[in-house]
Amino acid sequence: MYKAMSQEFVHEPYRPGETIAAVATPPGDGGVAIVRISGDNALITAAQIFSGPIHSYVSHTAHYGRIQTPSGEKIDDGLALIMRAPRSYTGEETVEIMCHGGHLVTRRVLDAALSAGARAARPGEFTFRAFMNGRLDLSQAEAVQELIGAKNQWALQVAEGQLEGRLSRLVENFQERLTHLAAILEAWVDFPDEGLEFTTFEEMVHDLNTLQTEIQHLINTYHEGRILHEGISICLIGCPNVGKSSLMNALLDKERAIVSPLPGTTRDLVEDHVRLSGLNVKLIDTAGIREGADWIEREGIRRSRLAMEKADLILFILDASAHMSEEDRVLLHELPPAKTIAIWNKIDLPHTTLPPLLAHTLQVSAETGEGIETLKSTIDQVIWKEGPPSREEVVITNVRHQQALEKAAQAIGEVAKGLNTGVSPEFLTLEMRSGLSALGQIMGTNIGEDILSAIFSTFCIGK
Ligand code: GDP
Repeated sequence: MYKAMSQEFVHEPYRPGETIAAVATPPGDGGVAIVRISGDNALITAAQIFSGPIHSYVSHTAHYGRIQTPSGEKIDDGLALIMRAPRSYTGEETVEIMCHGGHLVTRRVLDAALSAGARAARPGEFTFRAFMNGRLDLSQAEAVQELIGAKNQWALQVAEGQLEGRLSRLVENFQERLTHLAAILEAWVDFPDEGLEFTTFEEMVHDLNTLQTEIQHLINTYHEGRILHEGISICLIGCPNVGKSSLMNALLDKERAIVSPLPGTTRDLVEDHVRLSGLNVKLIDTAGIREGADWIEREGIRRSRLAMEKADLILFILDASAHMSEEDRVLLHELPPAKTIAIWNKIDLPHTTLPPLLAHTLQVSAETGEGIETLKSTIDQVIWKEGPPSREEVVITNVRHQQALEKAAQAIGEVAKGLNTGVSPEFLTLEMRSGLSALGQIMGTNIGEDILSAIFSTFCIGK
């Protein structure tokens, strides 16, 4: 399932039934490898490279035999798993040949399948066929990729739910309700006198608003979805010498950022990745923010501010052993409190009473490690707000879905606004259709070749 460069994938017109083959297991040496063959001639192809009467085998049975080239030269012994159309992943005739997992053996089995008439599958082509044959809708096909790439238990849970059709059912429900409202709107246009028998303007606006709120609710889950999918970025900010780099090292559990007693040592952003509670976390150590710095440092400070704006979370660090400086006060005032944790560092040194500065204010020592575990659990708390998603929750993790839902919600809002302000229904039908089409894009109906190509090009070969 190695990932191909996306530019290699040129989505060609789908030719139903054409037989394709690829290695479906990861490259390298392993116990077992699988060569997957799918298409109208999958059994004919497999019969040329596998001993035994493949044609007579019942679907969903496995058979031991000899794997060979079409000219009869033995390659390996292994198993053939038969899945007859339409009860296969792709919905087509499928044979999966399991051989020993050596790189060369696997390559030779694939070559044998290709010489027997199959074409090399493109990235994601098996899943693409599953989509084209109606085995999966587009959001489910995308879930396959998310499931394979899931980096933590919640991402896996969300991908499983999406593959199982939880997102699809919700979107279908939105589609059905919107289609119903669109039909009424069209009736008002076509039969202005009778149309109002179906429902009143007020009821229509009410239903549109309810739908818009529900869609907005789903859009809001993208915050969690993005955290699961991409992880989060945490920016360490504070005056020079308060211990930002030391704290970053303490979180990373290694020496990465340069620690120096000289103020202004970190002039550029230093980034590193760490896993906290199963999430990918990008830590960004910034240049200390202070007045009167030279231009190189000023550039560093400008980048620090930018990183701060983009970060999911800010750790504002102060020196417990020193007085709170004017610069600390200015910074504190500038920082968004909802995504900031204030940290008094160096509590191993003598210090006076340390006041709480924000809702989350901690005391730590990067030097001794005191308070670092509390810091990690506080990061968790601030990031998740309401805890990680539950098994039942539908969460969108895909920017394509987020954008389509935004478009649908906006169109629905426009129709409701139009009706409220007395715009004639005929001017609102277009907007209504655009809302419906946006929802359809999530499921993959009426979707352009270019978008399909972009989606499946990110898949692995063999998937
Ligand atoms: P930055 O400029 O904010 O990145 O600060 P550094 O991490 O480079 O630290 C500045 C100085 O403070 C260094 O000499 C560190 O060893 C020291 N330092 C950092 N954290 C602590 C701490 O928790 N306790 C003590 N005693 N010293 C610390």
